[in-house]
Amino acid sequence: MLLKFIGKTALIIGTMSFAASSVQALEVEMVVGKKFSSTSSIIHGASDAVVIDAQMLNSTAQMIVDDLKARNLNLKAVFITHAHPDHAFGLDVITRAYPDAQILANPAVAQSFRTQMPKFLGFLSKKLGDQAPSKLIFPTAFSGSSFELEGEKIEIRYLTQGDTRNTSWFHVPSAKTAIAGDMVYSNTPAWTADSNPTERAEWLQNLSILENSFNALGVERLIPGHIEAGDELSPSEMIAYTATYLNVFSMAVSSSKTPEEAVEIVFKHYPNPKTKRVIERGVKHYFSAGH
Ligand SMILES: [Zn+2]
Repeated sequence: MLLKFIGKTALIIGTMSFAASSVQALEVEMVVGKKFSSTSSIIHGASDAVVIDAQMLNSTAQMIVDDLKARNLNLKAVFITHAHPDHAFGLDVITRAYPDAQILANPAVAQSFRTQMPKFLGFLSKKLGDQAPSKLIFPTAFSGSSFELEGEKIEIRYLTQGDTRNTSWFHVPSAKTAIAGDMVYSNTPAWTADSNPTERAEWLQNLSILENSFNALGVERLIPGHIEAGDELSPSEMIAYTATYLNVFSMAVSSSKTPEEAVEIVFKHYPNPKTKRVIERGVKHYFSAGH
């Protein structure tokens, strides 16, 4: 396990490979944006790479580019797990460095991207200043269930609901690794400002589907959508963490008369000042939607 800080905005954790007997296994490297803790994954063989999720800030997306260049990797494609800015704004930086890389997403995710992302950019571009993308890069719909990198299979699977409608996850069999997008959070509160109670119930069901899939596929390592660095849990521990957070959140909002009361209850369980904003945004969304 490699733990290495790079610059001020990102860190790269963990390069793990499971060598197969006759073929070169793929490696999966996790890049974490320090400010929002959103992850990107660099899946690579000896010379080619695929990136899953593109970060939010220009500086953090640049860390992915720098890492690819330092390893002399040829970027074939970037896949986006779901249509949220913290996983996709960085496409602008990445495509400028690798104009030939394909930008892809599951068809339903690509559709959500077209409807949601312009709104996000309108809302966030001023806030992010010189860290905002100069333009949105829209993924092309990829309807296949798998693709190959250096002769090794990578699977893409769709689920209806994670922290937003339409999401996808990836499985790299030769690395016994899955990449969950924002279906799964590790040691950091889940984003609940883009789902309603019915959708969160569906999200919980999908977490069971994920866990069953991981067991069936022999997944040993999971890269969640967000992670607090240095706290890599097992796949089932991350899933349990996410499910517990969603249940605590539901209990807090449904039993509180005011947003302040609900925030206080959730914060008592997850007392990290750095992530209080995530709790507040979720609670605010619940009360403003009048559930
Ligand atoms: Zn996210």
